[in-house]
Amino acid sequence: TIGQNLARTVARFPDRDALVDVPSGRRWTYRELAADVDELARALLATGVGKGDRVGIWAPNRPEWVLIQYATAAIGAIMVNINPAYRRHEVGFVLRQSGISVLVSALTHKGSDYREMVESVAGECPALRTVVYLDDPSWTDLVALGVPSADLEARAATLTSDDPINIQYTSGTTGFPKGATLSHHNILNNGYFVGELLGYSEEDRICIPVPFYHCFGMVMGNLAATSHGACMVIPAPSFEPAATLAAVAAERCTSLYGVPTMFIAELDLPDFADYDLSSLRTGVMAGSPCPVEVMKKVVDRMHMSEVSICYGMTETSPVSTQTRVDDDLDTRTGTVGRVLPFLEVKIIDPATGVTLRRGEPGELCTRGYSVMLGYWDEPEKTAEVLDAARWMHTGDLASMRSDGYVNIVGRIKDLIIRGGENVYPREIEEFLYRHPKVSDVQVIGVPDEKYGEAVMACVTLRDPGENLTIDEVREFCQGQLAHYKVPRYVRVVESFPMTISGKVRKVEMREWAVRELG
Ligand code: ATP
Ligand code: MG
Repeated sequence: TIGQNLARTVARFPDRDALVDVPSGRRWTYRELAADVDELARALLATGVGKGDRVGIWAPNRPEWVLIQYATAAIGAIMVNINPAYRRHEVGFVLRQSGISVLVSALTHKGSDYREMVESVAGECPALRTVVYLDDPSWTDLVALGVPSADLEARAATLTSDDPINIQYTSGTTGFPKGATLSHHNILNNGYFVGELLGYSEEDRICIPVPFYHCFGMVMGNLAATSHGACMVIPAPSFEPAATLAAVAAERCTSLYGVPTMFIAELDLPDFADYDLSSLRTGVMAGSPCPVEVMKKVVDRMHMSEVSICYGMTETSPVSTQTRVDDDLDTRTGTVGRVLPFLEVKIIDPATGVTLRRGEPGELCTRGYSVMLGYWDEPEKTAEVLDAARWMHTGDLASMRSDGYVNIVGRIKDLIIRGGENVYPREIEEFLYRHPKVSDVQVIGVPDEKYGEAVMACVTLRDPGENLTIDEVREFCQGQLAHYKVPRYVRVVESFPMTISGKVRKVEMREWAVRELG
């Protein structure tokens, strides 16, 4: 279990740094972390939290988040991660859908009054009996409670590694978020193996600007760190490029995480060269398609010579494939790596279910310890993605090279079909990234009377004073891309609609484009 794993790390590295919160300056060694986790676990027991009860956490990245993660695991409660970007309606939905009985919430974040929102929905959430706010007397009152250690040990003895301990909602990129139910076994193993492939040891210090609410932060960050004795560094409550690089420099971090847009924002900082990033060795880029150009800059300019790309999804704890430190640069920047130890990956024809030959694009399916128990309280939705042999059907299009390395082509839902021709947005995005004016680019399909769909490129520019015309784009693509891939429309935008986990909401972009085109 997660509790046993943490205890082992604490015994091996009691005096090493475990957690640093840069904004508040607070820090914990493993011994101190274990003591605070133990205290909080006993406090939760004292409030009557039973095994399998749902405990919600609604807060941006801060140290209490980590304490709650390990305290709930220690008592076999199911922690429910609530997206800090949620508002009244959504938080009410999650509270009800997962039947949360104890909620730990921030008071405010980025000008939103969390307490006001919780109070306004509490009446509609019959299971909710206790709400505790961080930075509030209710939190100190909670922590002051406690049962004897023997009671905590008795509870721990009833836990098994296949128990559910976490409900994580998917990012909601393609529709309404679904609650993936995950066990100790699922996420602890995944965190451990991701860390193993990054070569983590007690010497590593991991800068985590990605949200804890999402598996990228809490599994690939926290669980990878604690299962190898490495240190978790919180640069800011939510992503800020300058604060992230400042934290790397101040804490001498060896590893840095981010979705592609975060790395782009860091590299684009006007004072980028002033941050001392020489301590960096490795890190992870993941979450959405990782542009080769950005990966190369991360390797060259951020000292992250051992950076990995990971591919995965909330439902699979999350990582299924990962690049390896000793892969050549092209493989490391241009693929999502190969399958993790003890997992399986196959590419099928989504229409027939037949496994495809290497190189042919189809739906990626994965199986093994990482696959979720199911969507919480949604057996029909679970059955849509998990087949009888427990293969998880990801909804992502991918192809596998003969050496087993995987290329993600894009989501099935984002595929553009133009006049019967399959157009993969990713390929065009990769190409347009090379344009000197382009900072970031997203390609979508828009309705077209003649061809069914037409290609639209939406770009953000390096220099916001500049412009990029359709003629410039056409010229840039001339002789480089097949005619049906050349964008029919180009729009310069200031930013893309994003989920808080850093995924571009193409659904929303398509709706916007339809209105824009009239
Ligand atoms: P929802 O399922 O609610 O629509 P979501 O799929 O974005 O949201 P997550 O589980 O956070 O929710 O994201 C998983 C998805 O992210 C994958 O299915 C894949 O499309 C994308 N993804 C993750 N890593 C990569 C990567 N390295 N390259 C390309 N795509 C990636
Ligand atoms: Mg998904």
